[in-house]
Amino acid sequence: MYELTNYSEVVVKKVLDDYIANNNIQCKCERCLADIMAYALNHLPPRYFVSHKGEVLTSFESQTLPDRTRVLAEVVYASVIVAANPSHSKEN
Ligand SMILES: [Zn+2]
Repeated sequence: MYELTNYSEVVVKKVLDDYIANNNIQCKCERCLADIMAYALNHLPPRYFVSHKGEVLTSFESQTLPDRTRVLAEVVYASVIVAANPSHSKEN
């Protein structure tokens, strides 16, 4: 009925999608992208909110959204960290 969503995660996912669409990063495998998201999210404040399941997020207060410039900076930094020390090779 209700679900808990971290809006920072939504924004990081969107920013990361845009970033890898327009930039060459060393590896775009599922593991590396998840590592980049985890690293960026650990450096950003969480923005949890409760919504009805499947509800569109338009009603969420825009002033509480994480700053997109800061999110992009964390995503770029995370991609450098992950590229330097990828986890995928340990699993494959
Ligand atoms: Zn990878």
